[in-house]
Amino acid sequence: MADLRFDGRVVIVTGAGAGIGRTYALLFASRGAKVVVNDLGGGRHGDGSSSKAADNVVDEIRRTGGIAVPNYNSVTDGEQLVKSALDNFGRIDILVNNAGILRDKSFAKLSDQDWDLVHQVHLKGSFKTTQAAFPHMKKQGFGRIIMTASNSGLYGNFGQANYSAAKLALVGLAKTIAIEGAKSNVFCNVIVPTAASRLTEDILPPDIFNELKPEFIAPVVAYLCHESCPENGSMIEAAAGWAGKCTIVRSNGALLRSSMNDGVTIEKVKENWGKITDMTDAKSLRAIEEATGALIESLDAIRDPE
Ligand code: NAD
Repeated sequence: MADLRFDGRVVIVTGAGAGIGRTYALLFASRGAKVVVNDLGGGRHGDGSSSKAADNVVDEIRRTGGIAVPNYNSVTDGEQLVKSALDNFGRIDILVNNAGILRDKSFAKLSDQDWDLVHQVHLKGSFKTTQAAFPHMKKQGFGRIIMTASNSGLYGNFGQANYSAAKLALVGLAKTIAIEGAKSNVFCNVIVPTAASRLTEDILPPDIFNELKPEFIAPVVAYLCHESCPENGSMIEAAAGWAGKCTIVRSNGALLRSSMNDGVTIEKVKENWGKITDMTDAKSLRAIEEATGALIESLDAIRDPE
């Protein structure tokens, strides 16, 4: 297969001064894209700032003949990131929302500040940066946006209530942007990565940590951002050289009323609990219309029990 390239494309990668974001920036640049390397250069918990992180990655890209500029704004000032792309390269084609921090605490000990800071960076930051880029993408009839979720958001994780909530919120955000952008060829997908980085160094066991190179995730994200990729509104998990699609599924469920005059009682819920929670033939619904359609089918079955 011919190399998939990004010549002429302008890419913003947020939080690209380290970890997974750095590998995205390096890969896009190596395939011809002009890259805005955004990084606030702060600590793991959202403290401090420095231009060093972004500068180092820009130097790395330039040393190998690539084109990149640094941007040191917080993602909460998303319009500044997009301005940086427009001022330096005249357009914005691809946005990878990747910047992130952790402020882990068990739920009972979580402070307002721990909640707010994590939501500010992950959720508000992705919102602000994407909203600034979106009109340019729609106008030019091309755009690719990535949101970064986490298995903590999909399944929960001890000590990460704030982070889990923000990460799953990004899935809803991505799905709606995917719907609103589709007709303008602006696609939005979610990556669910697991990689060795400073965010995971004390979470993952050392033998697994060493196999989780961020470089294994970057090609998955790059493909999702390529013009030839038709995927939109999906959640793709990637780690350790594996990738797969995740969806929300629901069971076939049970009817809790046998006719229009019938009511729903707590006892009927209990009686049917096995069926309600039986995931054997669980289905993944592709759109809200399918959920509404299924609701109408249930109503029809109650109206006309046969
Ligand atoms: P990392 O700490 O190595 O990199 C994150 C970068 O984001 C840092 O360089 C940091 O300076 C930057 N950043 C933080 N706040 C910022 C802000 N307000 N504005 C701009 N830049 C900011 O972490 P990583 O592991 O590479 O994580 C990247 C993304 O992937 C994060 O969103 C993280 O939540 C997510 N994620 C990572 C894993 C994993 O296994 N590493 C798992 C699930 C999700």
